[in-house]
This record gives sequence, structure tokens and C-alpha cells, in this order.
Amino acid sequence: MAEVIRLEGVRKGYGGGEAPWVEVLHGVDLVLHEGEFVSLAGPSGSGKSTLLNIMGLLEPPNDGALTIAGERAEALDDDARTRLRNRYLGFVFQFHHLLPAFSALENVLMPVFAGTGRLPAGAREHALALLERVGLAEHAGKRPVQLSGGQQQRVAIVRALANRPRLVLADEPTGNLDTQTAAEVFALMHDINREQGVTFLVVTHDERLAQDCPRRVNLVDGRIAPSPALVG
Ligand code: ADP
Ligand code: MG
Repeated sequence: MAEVIRLEGVRKGYGGGEAPWVEVLHGVDLVLHEGEFVSLAGPSGSGKSTLLNIMGLLEPPNDGALTIAGERAEALDDDARTRLRNRYLGFVFQFHHLLPAFSALENVLMPVFAGTGRLPAGAREHALALLERVGLAEHAGKRPVQLSGGQQQRVAIVRALANRPRLVLADEPTGNLDTQTAAEVFALMHDINREQGVTFLVVTHDERLAQDCPRRVNLVDGRIAPSPALVG
């Protein structure tokens, strides 16, 4: 299977100036392949969000190599980084960050518009088809406040898919949902992964949801740790 993303010896720290320098990621090696569904688990503060931000080209690493779809990405300039991000990556966050003044459909189209400054032919139809796929066709014209938490998070997942990414990075996408709704949203991501071949990396605190993934990665103190033996 083709590699979607490769990290080698990635280090990241914060501080400098007045604040002491604290290293958060101590040399992370990780490769994700096309079509994989991977959970990323680990204690709070272990560096999961930092790792996702680096993989998502939202923050540069201090050291190490990052390769996305065959292109070296750790030292790109702003324009090239934005282009690579818009072309290959989708994001889902714990708090969905939907824009309250816009409809579900407009929110889904936002990254498409942001990427190109216009709506390419078929973008609207693709967004509507995705909304229909997640059972939200008749809610396309509603604003986020008119939707339930689970529906809002489904809109956020569809928004992450609007640019037809190769890799979706989801940072605790179900952290804000009740158990039942979290399981449904997770199942939806699994289904989309299988149907469309999009690679998913999903951060979760939920042991059961993490175990249910075909591959599990654990981050402990800024290092990838061996997976605990599966019980039962
Ligand atoms: P997790 O997502 O696993 O809970 P984070 O990646 O958010 O962990 O944070 C890892 C560590 O890095 C924490 O100690 C956090 O305080 C620190 N950290 C994260 N972002 C910043 C930042 N922008 N500036 C300073 N420290 C940060
Ligand atoms: Mg986090």
C-alpha cells in the first residue's frame, strides 16, 4: 500500500525567550498507508494534538522529516504548505468549529472555497452528496445551532471530506459527545474509510473505540509506545 504520510525523528518543543524550552515530541517515527484507519491514544498532555498539528502542516517540527504523498513537507514556505494541506488533508476537531452564521452546506463548502478562492464545478453537488451520505440531506440549509451535537460533528466530518483528501486527521472528534452518539460518529468514519479509501487518524480517549480500530498507535510522553496486548 502506498504511503500517505511518513514522519521520521520528528521533534517538537515549546518555549524560548523568557519561557524554558520544553520538548514535547522526542523523535516520533510513524508511517500511515493508504486506506488505513488508525486510532491514536495516550494520556492527556502526551503530545497527541501537537503530533496532529505537525502532520496537518499547522505547525512545523523543530527537527526530523515529514513526507506527505511523496513530498517533503517539513520546510515548505507558507504557500506551498497551504497548497499541500488543501490538496491532501482534512481535519475534524473536538469542538467542531462550524461557523454559526452559515448553513451546514456552506460550512462544508468553506474549505473548498478557501483552497481555491472559488467553487469548482461539481463542488456543491459533491458536498450535497456527502451530506446525504451521512443522513443530513434535509438539514443542508440549517445553521449549526439548529442541529444536535452529533449532527454538527457529522457536518464537520463531511467538511473534512469536501476537498477529497487522502488523509483525515481527527483530534478527539467524539470527545464532546455522549457514548451512543460517539459510537455512531466513529462507525460513520469507519464506513467512509471503507467506502472511499480515505486514510483516517483518529485521536480518542475511549478505550473501546480505540481497540475497535484495525490499527492502534499509542503516544506516551512524546514517544510512540508499543501497543498493549489485546485482552480477550
Ligand atoms: P495531548 O493532545 O496529548 O493532550 P498536547 O499535544 O496538547 O497533548 O500537549 C502536549 C504538551 O505540550 C503539554 O504539556 C502542553 O502543555 C504543551 N503544549 C502544547 N501546545 C503548546 C503551546 N502552543 N505552547 C506551549 N506548550 C504547549
Ligand atoms: Mg489534545
